[in-house]
Amino acid sequence: EQTASSSAPRQRVTAKGNNVPEHVKSFADLAKRYNLPSRLLSNIAQSGYKQPTGIQSHGVPILLESRDLAAISPTGTGKTLSYLLPTMALLGAPASSSQSDSGKGVRALILAPTRELAHQIHNECLKLAQGRKWRIVLFSRATASTLADKNVRDKVDIIISTPLRMVAAIQSGNLELSNIRHIVLDEADRMLDAEFLEQVQEVVASCTHPKVQKAVFSATLPANAEKIAMSMLHDPIRVVVGLKDT
Ligand code: ADP
Ligand code: MG
Repeated sequence: EQTASSSAPRQRVTAKGNNVPEHVKSFADLAKRYNLPSRLLSNIAQSGYKQPTGIQSHGVPILLESRDLAAISPTGTGKTLSYLLPTMALLGAPASSSQSDSGKGVRALILAPTRELAHQIHNECLKLAQGRKWRIVLFSRATASTLADKNVRDKVDIIISTPLRMVAAIQSGNLELSNIRHIVLDEADRMLDAEFLEQVQEVVASCTHPKVQKAVFSATLPANAEKIAMSMLHDPIRVVVGLKDT
């Protein structure tokens, strides 16, 4: 087991796990090391982001190397981009494009505890998606019924949802999750708490692809939630960002 630490201006980062990938110092670094699609980079620049935050510089390489991750970083430190960027990079091309060769059906699922948070994540994802024909669905009763059509469903790349909405769709039998390759639990302290745990476990269990990558992100992770998170993850790396002098 290794530990890597580095200091962004106001942040102290610790990464623990087997073979922790080296963090990056800039978005240019990241693009070069992982040969990222230039469109993703230009969309990040378009958002006005100049430097990766601590969780981004450590977390993105870990996810790009297809590792499972538990990321703990304070509110406002850019956790959303930390998982959206690698997820979209690993998906490669929209399912609706001829370049896509990873099979049919939804390939990434982001879960958040409230509809409002899911909505914010969806907006961030749309910014990253600009210029390409990504199909990113903010899951609701209405979108769930349109996805009952297999032709529509097969072209969706990413679903962003609350756990309850997903459970309802799974139970209706109208949603196929067997090609999901990436699952993210955002605000994992809440997602793994009593209110949502059973629903989250049902959704995760329905994602049956053998190579599904899992990541949890949270501002805090109480011991009990952390224990559950670690049991869900495979050979995880745990990254903790702390504000300095606190
Ligand atoms: P968290 O989920 O950790 O609370 P968010 O992902 O919601 O944080 O991001 C907080 C704010 O920081 C958002 O307004 C987002 O657009 C912005 N942001 C994210 N990454 C960067 C970056 N690298 N540089 C500047 N601003 C960023
Ligand atoms: Mg967040």
